Amino acid sequence: MSHALLSLHAVSKTFPNGVTALTGLDLDVREGETLTLLGPSGCGKSTVLRLIAGLARPTVGAITWANPMARKNLGVVFQDPTLLPWANVFDNVWLPLRLAGVSRATAEPRIKEALARVGLSDFANALPRELSGGMKMRCAIARALVTNPSLILMDEPFAALDEVTRFKLNDDLVALKRDLRATIVFVTHSIYESAFLSTRIVVMSKPRGRIVEEIDIDPALVRDAEFRMSSTFSDICRRASRALREATGEAA
Ligand code: ADP
Repeated sequence: MSHALLSLHAVSKTFPNGVTALTGLDLDVREGETLTLLGPSGCGKSTVLRLIAGLARPTVGAITWANPMARKNLGVVFQDPTLLPWANVFDNVWLPLRLAGVSRATAEPRIKEALARVGLSDFANALPRELSGGMKMRCAIARALVTNPSLILMDEPFAALDEVTRFKLNDDLVALKRDLRATIVFVTHSIYESAFLSTRIVVMSKPRGRIVEEIDIDPALVRDAEFRMSSTFSDICRRASRALREATGEAA
């Protein structure tokens, strides 16, 4: 088994308004995996991602990193692509490098590579308003990739997209992952999406982000259209679905 890139140890998070999103969460993120946090809205998935990203701190417990440098180079993608409306695609992707003091000219090869990876090479000069929802998300993904992160955090990135676009972006993410070999932590409430993308699904439930099931999926499986039709895929979906249902039943 690959080693942990980072570990959450007995992490609890209570917000200033008194809402407790997580209690006593133990979770490893393993090098090279695509880990999906699957669960109903409000069960604490985003909070886990925000804690890993350093956007929030645990109230109790700790997060340890095997390589503290990895913590400084994260790619983060949210459901809202949050592009700068006045800047074209190229300059939007340049942003994280620009903030790190890298000039446009020096950054250019990396920006072009990131745009090629997400299929946006021909749209470098387009403004966000000229892009479809799927293309905006591709731009946000290119921006996350441009710093060559070893860990990519994705919070329901495709939830606002139509089903066809979402499937296409799921396919593309699988291809990206194969090329990049980065570790991905992906938050979703879609059972199908988690079954398609993951090498491991952690099913979470209310209250307070309890982990109710872990499903390991063979990383060697080819994630293609046939996989979506396979009995392996439906077995994974059934298992995740049962875990969610049982957890909800218990909580009711
Ligand atoms: P999920 O991503 O699974 O939908 P979240 O992690 O966003 O769940 O939220 C978990 C719980 O914490 C919810 O009850 C939510 O309302 C609450 N919560 C999240 N962020 C905050 C915040 N900044 N302040 C107060 N409560 C919050």
